[in-house]
Amino acid sequence: MNIILFGAPGSGKGSQASRIEEVYGIPNVSTGNLFREHVKNKTELGKQVEEIMNRGELVSNAIVLAMVKERISQPDCKNGFMLDGFPRTIAQAEGLMAMTKIDLVIFIECPFIEIERRLTTRRLCPTCSEIYSTISYFKPTCAKCGSTLYQRDDDKVTVVRKRLNVYQTESEPLIDFYSKQKKMVRVISQDSADETFKLVKKEIDKFLSSQRKEKKAKK
Ligand code: AMP
Repeated sequence: MNIILFGAPGSGKGSQASRIEEVYGIPNVSTGNLFREHVKNKTELGKQVEEIMNRGELVSNAIVLAMVKERISQPDCKNGFMLDGFPRTIAQAEGLMAMTKIDLVIFIECPFIEIERRLTTRRLCPTCSEIYSTISYFKPTCAKCGSTLYQRDDDKVTVVRKRLNVYQTESEPLIDFYSKQKKMVRVISQDSADETFKLVKKEIDKFLSSQRKEKKAKK
């Protein structure tokens, strides 16, 4: 099963991805995480993309497509994978179509005002990746491992607005693209990630059951 998790930055795709990974056993391919890993390791690619990411702009389609192609050809993606943060443009979606088949696109809908609130108050642990919000957690250090929390450069308010603007212009056309292919289902982001996951799981199970019925009918 090849899934795309679609939605604006900050709509909660990452939290859903880790839950899907756990329940359905398919690896999460997050292009944002892959780029951040390159930046952290100071690779050539990392140096190329760091500034672009800090400005909240998109990395070129060619670079992203090459990175995704390499990643999904790894053995752990053989029985399916989920894409988080990719595709973000029509050109990327077309490039992906030439690479592999997509079964289901889950669109996580969240109002922009809520996204801005979530992202600008988000703090992360550099050691164990735990996520906090300054609205509900007031300490500067991680409750799990004690490391000093940090704010992602692209979670600053001006960059968040830029990212949402880029999403509206570049990524929203994908809603129409995948709806026309009848691959997209919509899930409204709830207050808690666990509540949202109940809805996401329902959609995935519905898809899997329809696939099983199709297979039976063909026999
Ligand atoms: P994310 O964590 O998914 O919000 O990604 C962080 C940043 O990585 C984005 O703001 C872009 O600069 C870059 N990036 C991630 N995925 C893509 C993509 N599919 N296309 C272009 N740039 C991307």
